Amino acid sequence: MEGVSTDRELPGDEELFGLIERELERQSSTLQLIASENFTSRAVMAATGSVLTNKYSEGYPGRRYYGGNRVVDQVEDLARRRACELFGAEHANVQPHSGSNANLAAYLATLDVGDTVLGLRLDQGGHLTHGSPVNISGRYYDFVSYGLTDSDERVDLDQLRRLAEEHRPKLIVAGATAYPRVIEPGPIREIADAVGARFLFDAAHVAGLIAGGVHPNPTGVADVVTFTTHKTLRGPRGGCILSTGELAPAIDKAVFPGLQGGPLDHVVAAKAVAFGEALRPEFEAYARRVVDNARVLAAALAQEGFRIVSGGTDTHLLLVDLRSFDPELTGRAAQEALDRAGISCNKNTVPGDPRSAFVTSGLRLGTPAVTTTGMGEPEMAEIAELISRVLRRREDERELEAVSDAVATLCSKFEPYS
Ligand SMILES: *Cc1c(COP(=O)(O)O)cnc(C)c1O
Repeated sequence: MEGVSTDRELPGDEELFGLIERELERQSSTLQLIASENFTSRAVMAATGSVLTNKYSEGYPGRRYYGGNRVVDQVEDLARRRACELFGAEHANVQPHSGSNANLAAYLATLDVGDTVLGLRLDQGGHLTHGSPVNISGRYYDFVSYGLTDSDERVDLDQLRRLAEEHRPKLIVAGATAYPRVIEPGPIREIADAVGARFLFDAAHVAGLIAGGVHPNPTGVADVVTFTTHKTLRGPRGGCILSTGELAPAIDKAVFPGLQGGPLDHVVAAKAVAFGEALRPEFEAYARRVVDNARVLAAALAQEGFRIVSGGTDTHLLLVDLRSFDPELTGRAAQEALDRAGISCNKNTVPGDPRSAFVTSGLRLGTPAVTTTGMGEPEMAEIAELISRVLRRREDERELEAVSDAVATLCSKFEPYS
């Protein structure tokens, strides 16, 4: 029998590699406005596609269940060290396969089944892992939700305090998946202390903004900070947990053997690359441009007649309430029309949305990916105009085609991997 070919020059599998070529073409010729997406560097992709994918290394550096981990130990140590340096953390666990796994591990480390937890309402920006009934978090723990104020659509800290006093949670979860404003960790720490709760800050979306110094750093304020490495942080798909030294053994035990088997060493290596990139001064400039671009996009869309939830943004994302623009237009229809015109984004509920999560009255837009390609404020103004054209004449196939051409022309000047 012949050995398996390991020839790197000729992937051979034309069917699969042809599809990857087509995805590269899609990513290069259409606008990527999904707030949780980004373009990683070639170095991140090289580490992800490296021989480290071949290694088994259950356990932690110096304490592995398999032999041959001399090099992998150094890779994981480098990733942990850089994560701690980047965020100022006492401890980092870089093994979670995803942001959801990072949250689950944080719960496993700090809660017993049935314990009470406070988290942000899912229809006001919270994540599935913050107590959705269809997620393990909502099935195993007793989540109570806080929401946003009606007046300014910011996290309602008075309500959070009231609910904390009433329910005496063991854990308070802050952080969101669709919330355009900064979340100050300090006031939530005070509430947690007042009721004897631990505090988890889920920084999945804003990790890159924190690293770039444009969002307050919850590390050292919260007991645990979880985040994804693939959103604003611009690394490989994966998760990470920062904690106090006191919680470190419980967090490590929760990730392995509590929740996962072997780490994805190639992804751990790519996380180290991304942390290294985020430690460089250029990353601060990137984070600032991401937020500047989001602000310009929000203002330009407001000019076109869209209501921007909370009146704007301090982050990389904005929520567009479509009802002021066209009461008949749903988020689902808008997403589909934009997709046909080469503009990729997602439908999203807006606060007080009368429509279901599958239909919605809003869109979530984000600037991390387009900013990575080098787009700036003039391009944001152009994007707002293109979005408005599509949504105004969404039944007109010729108009969608014309916008699609304009999108391709714009993108050809800002290719992510030219
Ligand atoms: C994206 C996200 C997650 C989950 O990350 P996955 O890698 O998709 O599992 C968790 N929490 C928040 C707030 C998120 O936005």
